[in-house]
Parts: sequence; C-alpha cells; structure tokens
Amino acid sequence: MEFETICVRGGDKPYDRTGAISVPIYQTAAFAHPGLGRSTGYDYSRAQNPTRECLENIAANLENGAEAVAFSSGMAALTTLMALFAPGDHLIVSDDLYGGTHRLFSQLTERGGLRFTFMSTTDAERVAECCTPATKAVFIETPTNPMMHVTDIAAVAARCAGRGIRLIVDNTFLTPALQKPLDLGADIVMHSGTKYLGGHNDALAGLLVVRDRALAERLRFFSMSLGTGLAPFDAWLIIRGIKTLALRVARQEENARRIAAWLAERPEVRAVYYPGREDHPQYEVSRRQAKGFGAMISFEVTETGLVKQILENVRVIHFAESLGGVDSLMTYPVLQTHADIPEEKRLAQGINDRLLRLSVGIEAAADLIADLARAFGGQDIE
Ligand SMILES: *Cc1c(COP(=O)(O)O)cnc(C)c1O
Repeated sequence: MEFETICVRGGDKPYDRTGAISVPIYQTAAFAHPGLGRSTGYDYSRAQNPTRECLENIAANLENGAEAVAFSSGMAALTTLMALFAPGDHLIVSDDLYGGTHRLFSQLTERGGLRFTFMSTTDAERVAECCTPATKAVFIETPTNPMMHVTDIAAVAARCAGRGIRLIVDNTFLTPALQKPLDLGADIVMHSGTKYLGGHNDALAGLLVVRDRALAERLRFFSMSLGTGLAPFDAWLIIRGIKTLALRVARQEENARRIAAWLAERPEVRAVYYPGREDHPQYEVSRRQAKGFGAMISFEVTETGLVKQILENVRVIHFAESLGGVDSLMTYPVLQTHADIPEEKRLAQGINDRLLRLSVGIEAAADLIADLARAFGGQDIE
C-alpha cells in the first residue's frame, strides 16, 4: 500500500462485528477472562488495549517498522526508552535538541548513572570518533529543534552498525510522510505523536517504532512495568489525525516554503533557518534522505525589541508552545521550549533572544504572510 492509503487504512482493526469504519474506543481498564488460564489477548489496559494496539499497527506500517509501542506522551516514550540502558552506559546526543529531551537526559537520566555527550551530529565521522566502548546509542533529531541542523542518517547508521550502538532518531519534525529513518538504517524511531501525527493540538502521545521484534517486546515490558502506555481515547484521536497526515504535511510544507522565502526578503530578519532553502548548510543531505523539508522554520530578527512586537501582534498565528498541528504556532525558544538549557550552551547553539520558531499550519499562506507583515509592522488588525 502507498503511504496515503496506510494513513487511512493502515492498521489491523480490532475484531468488531458491527463493521464500524471508525476504530472503536475500548474505554476499559480490564477485560474478562473466558476461563481459567485463558485470555482474549487483553487482560488489563496498562499492558495492552485494542485501540492503542490499532494505533501501534498503523505507526509501524507508516515507518516501515516491525512494531510500534504507543505512550502517553513523547516524554513518556523517551523515559521508557531510557530503561534500555544501564548505569555506566554512554549515549551520544544531538546538542541542539527539544528542550524537554535535554532536560530528561541532563537533569534526570544522568542521575541514574547514564553518561551523555551532547554534540553536533552533522559530521558522521566526528560522531564515530566520539564513540567509546561504553557507547550504547546515538540519539539524533533531524532536523534539530530549533536550529534545523540536519544529520545524514545513513552515514551515522553505517558508523553505529556492528558496534552494539543503537541509532535512535526523533522523527517528530518530518514524520514518515517525508522521512523514514528505519529505511536509512536507524534502529528506533521516536515520535511526539502530539505534533504532526495527531495534528490538531488536542492530544498528547508518544511512539517508538523498531525493526526488531525482540526489542519491541522489551519496550512493551518496560511500558507495562512503568505504566507509560497511551490511553484509548487519546489513541483514537491520534488514529483519526493520521488519516489526514499526508495531506496536512504536504500543505504545511507548501505554506512553509512560501513563508521562508518571504521572511528571507524582510529587512527585519537576519537569518532564516529552513532546510528547504538552498543556502541551508545541509540542503543536499536533506534532499537526499527526505521527500521534503517539513514546515518548521526558525528565524532571527535584527533586534530583540521586534520579538515582543511580533509575538503580541500576530492574530492568525498563535503565540503558543507546540508544533505540527493544523494551526500555525509561533514559539520563543529562549523563554519557552529551551528555557531549561544553560544560557552559555543555548547561545553557543544560536538560540538567542532574537530567535523565533514558527510551526506552519494549513491556513491560507496569504493570510499567514499578511499576519506576519502586520506583526512586523507593529500594527494591530482592528
Ligand atoms: C514535543 C516534542 C517532544 C516531547 O513530546 P511530548 O509529546 O510533548 O511529550 C520530543 N521531541 C520533539 C522533537 C518534540 O517536538
């Protein structure tokens, strides 16, 4: 099946004799046993629930994985993933990273004895040089949040292969509509399903997708033990969101390209970070490994004062902290998503107080551009 069809039809539905087109929401904690020592396959929803299982099947198909495991949020997925590692294990991690992931690794997981090297992963050779015998995983975001650095997934995968090093890719920004890390050699794909997969800013979810069934079994065991699994209603919302994933992402990217081009022409804008621009340092890598460039744009304005003016004057675009949904959202990383990253480190990465991040939605591009133009000019609509 083609990707668009998998989005709509892509998971085995739980057995249902009514013929319901929409997957039933199995809003139940427990399942009755047909007899002593017998099970319907479902016992207790912390372990598995048919609606969650349906989402897992769809996600596995979309990413060309063997299995997927669904979690109550992206952070729950990552927390569960960390159970794979033991004290003394070393992980190499993209230095430009979703703020919550950085916080989990540096403030919580490190206390459990894991060691992290935060570095730019855009040079695969440097990543290989930093691997030690204790290195058990390389964790990358590509493009990164918010600076949009792109890592060559296949090049890093080739350097991890055969060394007992797992390559984990956070594919939240591009989604399998545009990029399939497992096909490029990654071992685990992670998603904040809250973002593009759900797509409507109305539910939190996380996913891990793997090629290896034994690894999936371990992750399920951790999820069941930690209680990090996704609730049935939220699973249903993500299933419904995925039905339009291909359409939404295509439209969002089209809008993003137009907005990136518009921003680049503005005198108030010092830099536009978007992998789809030919002046982006990893433009060629992006073209090679992904079917598109996504709809996340970061840009730096020339003066700090412009930030407040823009954030307080946008009307179509919301000033809010998430991304990937049908509504366009603008974020101020310094105060929001990346506030917990030490200032020195933040500034070294270019996350300064003039940087704004825009998640482009499916509205008419002309309205979004008019909104930005008004906000840049500092005038309110009314
Ligand atoms: C939002 C996000 C997360 C965390 O996911 P939640 O669903 O908010 O817990 C992780 N990685 C990236 C890239 C994200 O954007």
